[in-house]
Order: sequence, then structure tokens, then C-alpha cells
Amino acid sequence: MIKITLPDGSVRDVVAGSTPQDVAHDIGPGLARSVVVAKVDRQLVDLNKKLVEDCSLELFTGGTAEGHDTLLHSTAHLMAQAVKKLFPEAKVTIGPTIENSFYYDFDVDTPFSDDVLKTIESKMKELAKSGQEIFREEISVEKAIDYFESIDESYKVEIIKDIDPNEVLSTYTQTDFMDLCRGPHVSNTSKIKYFKLLSTSGAYWRGNEKNKMLQRIYGTVFSRKEDLKEYLHNLEEAKKRDHRKLGKELSIFTFDDEVGAGLPLWLPNGTAMIEQLETLAKETEKKSMYSQVRTPHLTKGSLYEKSGHLKHYKESMYPAMDIDGTEYYVKPMNCPHHHKIYSSSPKSYRDLPVRLSEYGTCYRYEKSGQLFGLMRVRSLQMNDAHIYCTEKQFKNEFLNVCNMYLYYFKIFNIKKYSMRLSLHSKDGLGEKYVNDPKLWTTTENWVREVLTDGGFDFIEAEGEAAFYGPKIDVQVWSAIGKEFTLATNQVDFAVPRKFNLTYKDENGDEKTPLCIHRAPLGTHERFIGFLIEHFGGNFPLWLAPIQVAVLPVSDKVLDYAQEVVDELRQLDIRVFLNNRSDKIGAKIRQSELEKINIMLILGVNEKNEKSVSLRRRFDGDVGKFQVQELKEMLSLEIKNRRLTHS
Ligand SMILES: [Zn+2]
Ligand SMILES: [Zn+2]
Repeated sequence: MIKITLPDGSVRDVVAGSTPQDVAHDIGPGLARSVVVAKVDRQLVDLNKKLVEDCSLELFTGGTAEGHDTLLHSTAHLMAQAVKKLFPEAKVTIGPTIENSFYYDFDVDTPFSDDVLKTIESKMKELAKSGQEIFREEISVEKAIDYFESIDESYKVEIIKDIDPNEVLSTYTQTDFMDLCRGPHVSNTSKIKYFKLLSTSGAYWRGNEKNKMLQRIYGTVFSRKEDLKEYLHNLEEAKKRDHRKLGKELSIFTFDDEVGAGLPLWLPNGTAMIEQLETLAKETEKKSMYSQVRTPHLTKGSLYEKSGHLKHYKESMYPAMDIDGTEYYVKPMNCPHHHKIYSSSPKSYRDLPVRLSEYGTCYRYEKSGQLFGLMRVRSLQMNDAHIYCTEKQFKNEFLNVCNMYLYYFKIFNIKKYSMRLSLHSKDGLGEKYVNDPKLWTTTENWVREVLTDGGFDFIEAEGEAAFYGPKIDVQVWSAIGKEFTLATNQVDFAVPRKFNLTYKDENGDEKTPLCIHRAPLGTHERFIGFLIEHFGGNFPLWLAPIQVAVLPVSDKVLDYAQEVVDELRQLDIRVFLNNRSDKIGAKIRQSELEKINIMLILGVNEKNEKSVSLRRRFDGDVGKFQVQELKEMLSLEIKNRRLTHS
């Protein structure tokens, strides 16, 4: 008998040679069905691995990250097996997993059509149900080459020939299909139940366009039917919500070849949103005692030498321009300018913290292949600020920044977020990281304490810090579960020294302040891209580019419609008057298509009563209101930045 220690600390005696699947079975039939992979002494292993000595054991269902990845991997193999059954002449290559999905590349003569995908999927269902055992085996490189040569799988042979000949390879076999893989895998194909093939595309072998074009099939799998259903629904929804598509339909932004790739043009609708975001930021920052500043887009190269940007960041900067014999650059970041504003007058401890904020426009070089809608652009307007403070003030300042994030998340109905605390690594000191181990430990501890005491969800990542201090990377998820990188908060204890930033402390001694870089709303580009997808274009009233559509039933009431428009514009409400001669039904449909939140329908009765008939998207006809009543109602909703629907 051997002793198996489970994660809750309990110990089970089992017969030597039992497998994790056997242990799951002992615990209960539910777990036996749902378990897909295990960890033995913290190593991921297959469920049919024989346990021969005392060990710790963790069991993972398909709902866990480990289990899901195993399912995805196993399904990629199942798909390859199905393709080989249907197209014996197809050559297999590689099939990795990516977030929530997998793909496999095949060399075939004819690209796979949608109908073929369906056929492959049915074959997979049949193969899964047949309950094939999946076995792991270890073989030498030489034997592996022999085997794959014998079945004419030239790509596999090419892959293996790149591997050190002394290494031992692992393979996974289900019936007649063997593939090279590190594993782990599910132990039986019957554990693969809820899968779907998603799409196909061409892909060059090894990503090199000089190589042959292969056919890639994407697919996904989940351990529960409802999870698969939700994922597929979200995929469909994500296509509809794509910010590039909706941004165009709602006239928010555009790109123009003659302006240049990655340089968005903000249309009036997008600009209205930008103004709302800036108003929100300014209002919030004023309450938190920030001072607004403005800085130029052009700067001498010597400043970027001092800041280290030319040394560490040059490949993201645009080339220098010569102005009167001096090199100037367009700015990639606002920090050096804010440092210069700080040092423009002497500071005492009484002046600190100094909080300088600016929606700063920066320019960064992104490779043209990397450009992506509003998510990766070459000109960006950043919700930037730098806080200069004493060590004593640091924790409080950092906490306030983190709380500002939460305040914004609430306004935008962002329910899921994560914060990653990026730390230095000891072996990077002096090279990747400023060589000041004590300051690293101290500031890292402060940040950790702030996050812990503030009750923030966070994970830690060693070796991911910036050159000059720890940072927090913030990810947010849209309403349909798509992940976005939003912003970064950085602690900086090196640059203030480089810039000779100082303050006089209580004893009259010169001290260097700490600097916090923060940008909770990221850049307008990325944040509006996120908001478009998050709200699916159905923005809350305060943020909507067009807030109200005034729809006169006939030309007889055009003068009254104009009166209502004027009154609402007095309140700074963004109104569109539809004075076309269309029927009212067509006007309503048009407004619905433009996702306009509030529709005011005006006929002769409304004109005589000085009222409006109010129709809201999602709510339909709400009833009649006096113009005065309507004005108060809308103003309040806008002022409170109410979420229109959730
Ligand atoms: Zn595999
Ligand atoms: Zn900065």
C-alpha cells in the first residue's frame, strides 16, 4: 500500500499501481466522471499514470485551468485523428492550445470548406464516443524518426530532427493514431464531449511565408454543455461588437490612407465621447487634488537621453527631426515633461504630494503588422498623471490611485478585473533592473500591503517589473468576457534621481521624491475601443455620442421640434433632429439602428400640450412628458452618469 496526500491534507491508503483515475473513483462517481488530469507531487500527469510510491495528489476537472487545457489538447489530437481517417493523404504538423481554443495545421491539397468541417466534427464525435484509451509512451528520437518516416509524416520528421538526439520523447496513442506530445492528455476519448470546430484559415508552415501554405482548423471544447454554449454565444456577440465594425457603423472613428496607418481620425461622435471621458477624468482628478498641466508634442533629443528613452525605448520612437541643427523627437511618453514641470520651482515637504495630470498625446512606433483597430495605434491620448510624494505619503497615494480604478470600474459597469503586481527578479539587478535591492524590497512590500489592505484581487509575477520600479498591470473583461489590457501603475524610484528632482524635508535636507505613473483610463484609443465592445454600442446616456433623436411626425410640427431641440441643446444635450420626410416608423427604425437611447416623437397633440412622447431603446414607449419634466429627468440621468441598462 502507498499513502496519497490530497490537497485538504487527508491521506488515503491505496494499492501501489493505482492510478489517479482510480483514486477519483474511490472518492466518488461524480469526480470519476469529471476529472481530466492530475498533479502528482505538483507535476501534471495523465490520469492513467500508475502511482508507485507515497505522493501528493491533486485532481482537476475540466472546469479548472489545468483541466481545460488538457481537454483542449486532447481534442486537438482527436481532430487530427479524424482528419487522418477522412483524408489519409493529409499530413499532420502541430496543434497547440490557445486561450479557450486549439488549432491544428494540416498539409492538404484542397482547403477545408465549412461542409468538410462538419464532416470532421461528426467523425470526431464518433471517435470520441468509441471510448479509445489514450496511452503515453516514451521513445528515443531515433525511433520516433523511424516511425514517422515509415508513415510518411514528413513534418513530424522535420520537427524531431531539430531535437537533441539524446532526448527522450513522449507520444500519445489512441488506437491507430500516434502523435508527438508532452501531454498530459485525458485518459480516454469518451472524456471529450462538448466540442465545436470554429473556423479554418491558411497558415504558413513555421509561420514563414517562404514555406508551404497549410490549412489550419480552429476548435474549442468545454467540460460542460452550457459553458460551450456560452462561449459560442460570446464569440458571435464579439463579432457583432467588434469595435472596428461598430466604430464604423456608429461613425465614431475612421482611418485614412493619406493620413497614415495607425493614426485614427476621431469623427464628431467619437470626439463627443472623448470629451465626456476627459470631463470625467478632470472632475475626478480635481476632487483628488491633481493639477492639470499641458506639454508640447516635440522635444529635444537630449531630454530623452537623460530620461533613458533613447537608450531603452528608441525602437518605439519616431526618427529625429533636425530643427536649427538640434535633434527633436515627437514624444512617446509624457513623464520627462512632467518631471520638468515639477523641477521648475523649488519644493518643500509641505508642497508634496505634487500630482500633475494631462491627457497627453504621444506617438509610438508600432510595426504595421501589429496595428489593430484602436487597440494598437501610432498616436495615442493618454489619461496620464505623475504623483511625486515622500516615502511616508507613498502608500496613501498608491491606495488612492487603486481606488480611482474601482471608482471608474463602477461607472463603466466593469465587473471583472485583475491586477498583476509585477516584481523585480534578483538575477536581473544591475541589468534589467535598477541595482538597489533594498528599495525594490521596500517599495514592493508597500505596494503589496496597499493591495492586500485595500482588498484588491491581485496576482504576483516575478521578473515582470519595469526597469525602475514595481508596477501593477490592470486587465479588464468586457460584458461578454473578452479580456483587455487597460493600464499600468508604476512606481519609479530611479528617474526622479536622474532628473535631480528634490524637495527639502522637515530638517531642511534635500530628498528625492518617489514618483507614481498612473493612467487608470488608459488611452482614449484603447479605452473607447473597449467601451464600444463592452457596451456593444449601447452606451449609457451620458456617454452616448447622440443622446436624443427628435422625430417629428410631419412637417406641420417642424417648428415645435426645433423648439424642443433648442431647449435641450441649452442643457448641452447632444440632439439630432430628424427632419426628413420619412414616415415616423422609418425614423424610429433609423434611430434604433444608430443605437440612440432617447427618441422624442412629436405630433400635433404634443405640440399643443408642449409635451413629448418618449421612447427608449430597450424599454419602448414610456409615455408622455412635459418638456420641463423631460429636461429635469435627462439632466439628472446624465449628471449621475447612470447606467442605462445592465
Ligand atoms: Zn497533445
Ligand atoms: Zn510616466
